[in-house]
Amino acid sequence: MPITPDQRAEIDALRATPRATLRAVSEGMEAHLYRAHEVLDHGFIRVIDYMGDDAAIVQAARVSYGAGTKHVQNDEGLIRYLMRHWHSTPFEMCEIKLHVKLPIFVARQWIRHRTANVNEYSARYSIMDREFYIPAPEQLAAQSTVNNQGRGAVLEGAEAARVLEILKSDASRSYDHYEAMLSQDGQQGLARELARMNLPANIYTQWYWKVDLHNLFHFLRLRADPHAQYEIRVYAEAIAKVVADWLPIAFGAFEDYRMGGVTLSRKAIDVLKRRLAGEVVTQEHSGMSKGEWREFEGIWAESGAAKP
Ligand SMILES: Cc1cc2nc3c(=O)[nH]c(=O)nc-3n(C[C@H](O)[C@H](O)[C@H](O)COP(=O)(O)OP(=O)(O)OC[C@H]3O[C@@H](n4cnc5c(N)ncnc54)[C@H](O)[C@@H]3O)c2cc1C
Repeated sequence: MPITPDQRAEIDALRATPRATLRAVSEGMEAHLYRAHEVLDHGFIRVIDYMGDDAAIVQAARVSYGAGTKHVQNDEGLIRYLMRHWHSTPFEMCEIKLHVKLPIFVARQWIRHRTANVNEYSARYSIMDREFYIPAPEQLAAQSTVNNQGRGAVLEGAEAARVLEILKSDASRSYDHYEAMLSQDGQQGLARELARMNLPANIYTQWYWKVDLHNLFHFLRLRADPHAQYEIRVYAEAIAKVVADWLPIAFGAFEDYRMGGVTLSRKAIDVLKRRLAGEVVTQEHSGMSKGEWREFEGIWAESGAAKP
């Protein structure tokens, strides 16, 4: 269960006591504050706090004395200019603090993003909950035969049932042993910091994660991408939806120039120019490796656009 009835009541109580403030407020974000957005089978993300709105980016870029937004169109133009030209520091003026509940193997990928502040639930101090990520049937997939870092065909029938049974019974047995080892119920047992070591990587952990918008966009660019592992991607997608409500202009620019845009190499631009001039260019005459060429051709295939 992602949120218990007690936790839900705490969230409702927090939302029932608004206070007036002089700080910049994003109406879109206020609707998200404290609320849990469920992710995977037991996980969630929820916004604990945030700083800034679209106007704060403009305000910082202009080093202004007052509010940023006087002419929304000018502000949008400026934010899009900043994004286009990698003028990143104004985006660092906005921050978000999230409470995230996630499987440990997802946390291992997530923690590689070093430009954030993290405080994780202590399994030295507290006993871990019996909550494990068990993939939904459509996510139980075999190793991809073309991509060493990805999934292939979805498992079906007896094979799906077999691996599901292994996942469930391993999780259950490990947790039973964890409880059996803990110093509790009158037995000497093991300290929490030791008893946890045989718990599997699909057990859930929780943390507070605070990051500025520039580095959050970097995280989303990598982890909301179709090439990212599904289990971290769904968290990134949930966060992206929140950011779209928080900072609609900045998020729109991010979608245009980062998520929806591509970086082309010098060789790729040369091929484009030659093709636009009517030349038929193949990989052999492009100067690109087979891998580069595949990715280059993939751009037009993925966007559904006609080949240039
Ligand atoms: C699809 C995918 C596959 C991956 N596969 C692997 C893998 O097989 N093995 C593996 O180990 N990792 C892997 N990673 C993790 C990846 O290498 C990065 O560690 C991760 O994406 C975090 O990126 P980052 O370092 O840019 O982010 P952050 O740590 O948030 O850093 C943001 C930026 O700050 C700068 N920065 C931060 N810290 C430093 C520093 N100490 N020195 C210099 N500059 C710094 C860099 O410019 C960096 O890009 C993978 C990531 C993805 C998205």
